[in-house]
Amino acid sequence: MPAAVQIRGATKSYGAHRVLDGIDLDVRAGQVAAVIGPSGAGKSTLLRTVNHLDRLDLGYVRVFGELIGVRERNGRLHELGGRAIRAQRARIGFVFQNFNLFPHLTILENVIEAPLALRRHPQDVARRQGLALLERVGIADKADAYPRQLSGGQQQRAAIARALALEPELILFDEPTSALDPELVGEVLAVIRELAGTGTTLVIVTHEVAFAREVADVVFFMDSGRLIEHGPAAQVIDHPRHPRTREFIGKVL
Ligand code: ADP
Repeated sequence: MPAAVQIRGATKSYGAHRVLDGIDLDVRAGQVAAVIGPSGAGKSTLLRTVNHLDRLDLGYVRVFGELIGVRERNGRLHELGGRAIRAQRARIGFVFQNFNLFPHLTILENVIEAPLALRRHPQDVARRQGLALLERVGIADKADAYPRQLSGGQQQRAAIARALALEPELILFDEPTSALDPELVGEVLAVIRELAGTGTTLVIVTHEVAFAREVADVVFFMDSGRLIEHGPAAQVIDHPRHPRTREFIGKVL
């Protein structure tokens, strides 16, 4: 069984600033992985390369064995066309910090938009599945509301339902609670906690170190574009080996 996510030599610069500096990372199928580290460490950029929202300068990403965003020809990597990239993205859920719901669609319409467009599910089947997903994240009563009528926590739960609608085997979360008021963080973490342990592979970039310790099987600590340390959550968070990890954990816990 190939790794759910395999990253090798991931390197990327913005101008002279090296944001990712040769990252190797593996997440096994069914694992929950948390990526932690100070602001600007490159966590979001790394996550975004996993579904090719950001391009690497060097290195590659494989998801369940398949190269992402590129194909190999004559020993070189060539970028895929837009259509092939969209097909790969449809198999990888992505939950953004700022929800990214379509403002002109209802919550249910947001959830069923992709299954209708990509899977050509009949409208009634898609609606039934969409409602079941909204039930699962606890906002079935908001199906016909518009995003602006929901709290941030409810919008993020809708965004998670939307990510689930295409039944991805891998879901990427980019700081899913950092745009929320503190009292709304818990309800979103509860939904992610429920997803952990269902067999879906989750990769979560998060500031919530206590949550990472609770749900993650493996924690990756990044700083200045490098992967400094990784291992089981209890090890990296409770007994960090590297001084930079120790310093960071000391500040945030
Ligand atoms: P983190 O998620 O750990 O806070 P990011 O991946 O968001 O870090 O950013 C890493 C670095 O890359 C930061 O210094 C950020 O300013 C820079 N960066 C991110 N996106 C861009 C961009 N589109 N253009 C220029 N610099 C960027």
